[in-house]
Amino acid sequence: MLSRLNDTPCSGDPAEGPHGAGTTHGQAGATPDHGGVGLDAGERQIRERVAAFEELLGDPHEAGNPFGNAALLEADERGELSVEAERALAAFRLNDEFVPRELGGNLDRIDGLARVLRPLFRRDASLGLGYGVTSFLAAIAVWAAGDEAQRGRTADLLRGGGRLAIAYHELAHGNDFVRNEFSARPDGSGGYLLDGRKDVINNAGRAEGLVLFCLTAPPGQRGPRSHSVLLVDTAGLPEDAWRVTDRYRTVGVRGCQVAGFSFERCRVPADALVGRQGGGVETALRSFQITRSVVPGMVLGGADTALRTVVRFATSRELYRRSVLDIPHAQATVASAFTDLLVCDSICLAATRAVHLLPEQTSVYAAAVKYLVPKLLQDACYNLSIVLGANFYVRDGDYGVFQKHVRDLPMVSLGHAGSAACQATIIPQLPRLARRSWTQGTPAPEALFRTGGGLPALDTDRLVLAAEDDALVASLLAAADRLEGPREAGAELAPVRALVRALVAELTRVREECLALGPHDRTAMASPHAYALADRYTLLLAGSACVNVWLAQRQDGGDFLADPRWVVAALTRVCRHLGLPLPEEADEHSEWMLAEVLGRYHEGRSFDLYDTHLAGPLVDDEPAAARH
Ligand SMILES: Cc1cc2nc3c(=O)[nH]c(=O)nc-3n(C[C@H](O)[C@H](O)[C@H](O)COP(=O)(O)OP(=O)(O)OC[C@H]3O[C@@H](n4cnc5c(N)ncnc54)[C@H](O)[C@@H]3O)c2cc1C
Repeated sequence: MLSRLNDTPCSGDPAEGPHGAGTTHGQAGATPDHGGVGLDAGERQIRERVAAFEELLGDPHEAGNPFGNAALLEADERGELSVEAERALAAFRLNDEFVPRELGGNLDRIDGLARVLRPLFRRDASLGLGYGVTSFLAAIAVWAAGDEAQRGRTADLLRGGGRLAIAYHELAHGNDFVRNEFSARPDGSGGYLLDGRKDVINNAGRAEGLVLFCLTAPPGQRGPRSHSVLLVDTAGLPEDAWRVTDRYRTVGVRGCQVAGFSFERCRVPADALVGRQGGGVETALRSFQITRSVVPGMVLGGADTALRTVVRFATSRELYRRSVLDIPHAQATVASAFTDLLVCDSICLAATRAVHLLPEQTSVYAAAVKYLVPKLLQDACYNLSIVLGANFYVRDGDYGVFQKHVRDLPMVSLGHAGSAACQATIIPQLPRLARRSWTQGTPAPEALFRTGGGLPALDTDRLVLAAEDDALVASLLAAADRLEGPREAGAELAPVRALVRALVAELTRVREECLALGPHDRTAMASPHAYALADRYTLLLAGSACVNVWLAQRQDGGDFLADPRWVVAALTRVCRHLGLPLPEEADEHSEWMLAEVLGRYHEGRSFDLYDTHLAGPLVDDEPAAARH
């Protein structure tokens, strides 16, 4: 069973530039970050691909641009994906991002995949999911468990611009997919007969290939090996044995074509089986670790646009003879939203790189990032909506994209394991991690926290269903030790030290409570208290990611990310989210963070760790006349 993507050695990043991935302020399409000198080839390719993609997407405010706000809002109102935009994505060969490099695609780093897709999600989550990522969610099962022929076929399909749909879930069972009833029974000649329904499936009616999660155990013999994954070519299906069911209209990602299938004694050949019969749950759970890790890092782009839209509004709207952004509440909200984006990106970075560096621990980090990031982003957007005022309710014009991103974001919390299901994955692991790892674990390698640089090949065979160790928590403790030691003794670091101490004290409390969880709390019927513990744990992971990203940048001599003020702001936000009493030294550095937001806004740079150049003209420094 193949399961290795990428053969790039883990470089330890000796040659990586000081600013992480892309601090370019140059033109989209140009080789970023000082010409990319000194970067390893993989990192350079990711940066070039991101820059080329941004150039393709063009100026979001240009009328007639298929990736512009106006066109995307119109397509959303119609409930369609723009044909022109999809054609451009096909010409850009976006699907190559989902295909392993050894099969002709670009996929070898999961952090790179999140970064390349982020510009598209900055424009439109419907296109992000509907054109592309759905195919990746399906294909990953084939990359992880398929044979050479299936891998080759899938690579050819995607590289030829085709689509795959993924059909795991069934309405009757929701997140509890191991109870699914859609069946694949032996047809007597080596193949299978498919029977049943799958509902709420993205691209159901327009995918050339289907990845189906099916019950293959005989009736009455259900167990952990009851299900299998099948890869089916829709063109080869007998027409009278299956049909696509009615489309579902959704609140967000309205352009996505979500429908279902109904099968009745539909014959498929033996070679449809992916991996071994009965291996479906294991393939699904391994695949989910990759997909849950990577998708939050993509959708962060939507929150970037939400923040940018509010900055645009707040700098141009005049009230009380000043701009809205002169109001302290608006300033604090904007600065906090930016800080939350950095917190989210830090945990996204650690989670996507953990898939390569700490695959044995990914099950818990994937669930943590999938749970926490959409939640923080949605909270940030709610706060931003207050600054936008009544314009939050306007569906077109200058600020119409805001409500679209607010509607689109929750899709990430719903689809592909809901938030509660992610917490439910974390909870049973907490007592064991607390006992074994939270006082004496091995910290993560520093490469986990680097915003670029080579990674070991992804080996899906090493993804296990329960983590035995917790390197991110150990890295929080290691950071605390380092900050207390002579190496980081400077008085200017007192606020970081105090905040990390506060997080370590919280870890001690969470640990005690996790150790006290009873057997009942390790099941799906866990108490609300256990869910709250999972929430606090994910915030501690985020805090660890932030302080360690900062330490890595400090070592590398970075610019903004090496400055202690951002990490003080980030850890202060994490402590606030945890509801902790803030140490005296805590500081959101609102003014400084706001200045960074405005600098990036005016110069057209992204609100994430990568600080990349965005397409479109520079924003005029002078506040525009009030529009309303
Ligand atoms: C736009 C859209 C596109 C989709 N596309 C696809 C697709 O392409 N392929 C696909 O397979 N599916 C797809 N889905 C289905 C999606 O994955 C389902 O949402 C998923 O099956 C979860 O079902 P449910 O939300 O109905 O939750 P249910 O499992 O019915 O859960 C309802 C509630 O019960 C509670 N709950 C459930 N499980 C747990 C748990 N373990 N612990 C604690 N509480 C729990 C939670 O409060 C949860 O919100 C899509 C959904 C949407 C909205």
